[in-house]
Amino acid sequence: MRTLVVGTGGREHALALALAADPAVTEVHAAPGNPGIGEVATLHAVDPMDGPGLAALATSIGADLVVVGPEAPLVAGVADAVRDAGIAVFGPSRDAARLEGSKAFSKEVMAAAGVPTAGSRTCATPEEVAAALDAFGAPYVVKDDALAAGKGVVVTTDRDEALAHAAGCGRVVVEEFLDGPEFSLFVVCDGTVGRPLLPAQDFKRILDGGRGPNTGGMGSYAPLAWLPEGIVDTVMADVVAPTLAEMQQRGAPFVGCLYVGLALTAGGPKVIEFNCRFGDPDVQPVLALLTSPLGTLLRAAADGDLAAVPAPSFAEGASVSVVMASAGYPEGSSTGDVIVGTETLAVEDDVDVIHAGTARTDAGLVTAGGRVLAVRATGSDVADARAKAYEGISSISFPGAQWRRDIAAEPLGVVEGAASRG
Ligand code: AMP
Repeated sequence: MRTLVVGTGGREHALALALAADPAVTEVHAAPGNPGIGEVATLHAVDPMDGPGLAALATSIGADLVVVGPEAPLVAGVADAVRDAGIAVFGPSRDAARLEGSKAFSKEVMAAAGVPTAGSRTCATPEEVAAALDAFGAPYVVKDDALAAGKGVVVTTDRDEALAHAAGCGRVVVEEFLDGPEFSLFVVCDGTVGRPLLPAQDFKRILDGGRGPNTGGMGSYAPLAWLPEGIVDTVMADVVAPTLAEMQQRGAPFVGCLYVGLALTAGGPKVIEFNCRFGDPDVQPVLALLTSPLGTLLRAAADGDLAAVPAPSFAEGASVSVVMASAGYPEGSSTGDVIVGTETLAVEDDVDVIHAGTARTDAGLVTAGGRVLAVRATGSDVADARAKAYEGISSISFPGAQWRRDIAAEPLGVVEGAASRG
């Protein structure tokens, strides 16, 4: 099987590594990829937003499966362009990607499907926003309806801040606050059938203890030993099955990764959000533990044939990813800072350096984005994996590097509570 991974980040590096480990996968290509991905894949300079360009590339390399990593190309319809060229794609159509592309649409689908989620109102005017804030009460949750690269949501007890955030957006969704620890569940879907991977948690704030501004994610771990038994079955039955049926009925079957972001509330798990792709860094530890072949699974999903392959299986033990970010992140990022120490980790079996914002220049490997790389380790339990990940972190350096010291030290939210969210 020849595979093509679309994207540039840590998610795509983790996907490329897992695809390369599938005996059925003979070639891994990436567009455009990054220096880490380049160690396991052939890189092609095609823009992830360029649907026709990706279709042409997939055709020319004889791809049997294209895996689209990020949300922006999916929401823009890149998967449709590749599928129209007759190539199997793991990633939803533009119509199905609206589950992430529009918060209002996703709430509408959840309501129609009877999915447990926060009560919400979609608001178009400041008056409607003010009324909705007062109806739900504090803490206030205000979400930009459109894709906002993780910056569209404000959770605050300050009513003026909530109003100001809404004023800076177009249409917004105002929601009831969900109280409880958060977790993510990635479900591989073929339009009718869904197969869950392991639940994971990611640490979104830049500073230890869940302080400071939100980021794309500073670390993650799996599995979640604190989750009650049977929770995945509950989410599959109450959330995933009705959502897949509703999308199919609307003529937009969901083929790809349905990322279910949940809060474990006193009233059971409730959906915080849907995304239409794997989450980063939360998918990194999940893929490290996957023991069944990823390419085979994703190809079956793309073919509408998931029922024919065994459910994904996972190793015992745990995995932890710790992100190193560049100076100035998350407000900005610093590029061109020379990174040293990644080579020594390349020889370890249970430790990987996952590249996100790196570039190869004459000066060597340098920073090229906010989240630069992650050290991912597996171990016999979370504490063991965590110790190995931090040992790896201690051997890598670049000027201004930032990382949290408390990733997976305690389950997020179970300890940090609502203060960690936003
Ligand atoms: P979203 O982009 O919808 O995932 O929102 C980003 C973050 O805001 C989530 O990961 C939560 O931490 C927080 N959040 C969103 N919606 C709610 C809610 N209804 N109640 C509590 N926290 C929320």
